[in-house]
Amino acid sequence: MRTKVAFSNSHKGGRMSGTRDSCTCARCQAQCAHKPGWLIPRDVDRIAAYLGLSVEQLFSCLLVVDVWSGRRRDIYTLSPAIEHIEAGGVLEVSAYTGRCVFLVNGLCSIHEVKPYECRRAFHEKDGRNAHAVAMLAWSSRRHQTTIHDLLDEIHALRRPSPFKGEVL
Ligand code: SF4
Repeated sequence: MRTKVAFSNSHKGGRMSGTRDSCTCARCQAQCAHKPGWLIPRDVDRIAAYLGLSVEQLFSCLLVVDVWSGRRRDIYTLSPAIEHIEAGGVLEVSAYTGRCVFLVNGLCSIHEVKPYECRRAFHEKDGRNAHAVAMLAWSSRRHQTTIHDLLDEIHALRRPSPFKGEVL
């Protein structure tokens, strides 16, 4: 079961003009409810700090690994989790789309630090490339290792104890 972390809409009093500053336009709302935007590596620390979480807590509670299937290799990226999916794992193709966990009462609860693709996708001239740009930002060996390490760490934490139920 996904761990819940309480947070609120910190920009509720913000502009409601339907621009990228408000995230209330129909295009943004549809995206948030259908397929969250991908982070780039530096978004991870920014979002974790904004929510007062460690990177490991952020990943295990609120992010998932998404996969860009390339011709030569797959690239792991990080995405906000989807409501019906357990965070801290890899998105299955069959459960690829869904409502972003950061969408609260119709607004982005991390608006000030929202992921790169969310910032760029719909209101920038080059926004249509944002998905590919985010993928490229993760493609180095260093960043792929970071994601694999996070997955290993969470997997180890969730693995049932071999001594469970035994009297020591
Ligand atoms: S992080 Fe915010 S802007 Fe991005 S998909 Fe989620 S709710 Fe929408």
